[in-house]
Amino acid sequence: MFGKLKSLFSTDIGIDLGTANSLVYVRDRGIVLREPSVVAIQAGSKRVLAVGEEAKRMLGRTPSNIVAIRPMKSGVIADFDITEAMMRYFIEKVCPKRFYSKYVKPRMVIAVPSGITEVEKRAVEDAAHAAGAGEVFLIEEPMAAAIGVGLPVSEPAGSMIVDIGGGTCEVAIISLAGIVHSYSARSAGGDAMDETIISYIKRVYNLTIGERTAEEIKVQLGSAYPMAEEKTMAIKGRDIVAGLPKTLTITSGEIREALKDTVALIVDAVRATLDRCEPELAADLVDRGIVLSGGSSQLRGLDRLLAEQTGLPVIVADDPLSAVAEGTGVVMNELDVLERNKRAS
Ligand code: ADP
Ligand code: MG
Repeated sequence: MFGKLKSLFSTDIGIDLGTANSLVYVRDRGIVLREPSVVAIQAGSKRVLAVGEEAKRMLGRTPSNIVAIRPMKSGVIADFDITEAMMRYFIEKVCPKRFYSKYVKPRMVIAVPSGITEVEKRAVEDAAHAAGAGEVFLIEEPMAAAIGVGLPVSEPAGSMIVDIGGGTCEVAIISLAGIVHSYSARSAGGDAMDETIISYIKRVYNLTIGERTAEEIKVQLGSAYPMAEEKTMAIKGRDIVAGLPKTLTITSGEIREALKDTVALIVDAVRATLDRCEPELAADLVDRGIVLSGGSSQLRGLDRLLAEQTGLPVIVADDPLSAVAEGTGVVMNELDVLERNKRAS
């Protein structure tokens, strides 16, 4: 009875705490928030000035007294206090505090990278409790992504998901609702791609560009496989020698070359996971193929390259940026089933 009352008042929340973007799923409402995982703070103190979209606009453009931080950058909680502040901001934005929130706290399902340690898991849980969560359930990102894209994870057959975000590339083979093999490559995501573009432009053109420009170049021109139609783009940065702003034109071929090493890391991660795979599971994958999710899976031609390198069918999820958050939503609905069973027994 009390349990039922409680669930009337509380809101269950699913969170995809990504290195680049955070998404919040609210029960019965779906995904209600998508914002960059960025926090702007006052230098020297930990006073939070802005979070999310507003803070991302400040990245690379801040006066010396403001620092814009990505607390989850390498796929883990790099800064506990700032991660907590960020979660609190997102949670309060989607479910404003009510008078009874002292008594009924939201249950939370939080997706975390598969490679994180027990200590890192505790940090996520502690940050969630500090940000106002009641019960906290952690789910591994690739599992959430697989559920989110609708793979039949509980069947006794192998499914493979590759989630490529900002900080990590997570590869997993799933069967009977468990992860059979997984691999987390922490330097094979979108951030690494942006960094190689920055160093390529610096090396070849003596031009320094910012992270946001690098990301724009990647999205506009980037590819992993030669494209029928090659493109060019005018980019702006600062000439290292003259120290002045300068514009130049680059081609998609150059950017593909610059991205080659990072793309190779993704291919290696997938192949290494397949190498460890039992023959029965491997046979399942021949039929079912590989599903890609995460923002960086949208890099042009990556699906084609992976298909060529593995000999398996590869498809990109319909909405790759939402897969993990959708998965937390599905899991949330299962929590009630679990609780009902617990009470009935
Ligand atoms: P995370 O889960 O780590 O927060 P996301 O799944 O939100 O990451 O993906 C963010 C990454 O996807 C960023 O590095 C972004 O630059 C990259 N990205 C978004 N759109 C594209 C695109 N069209 N092509 C290549 N990369 C993209
Ligand atoms: Mg992600």
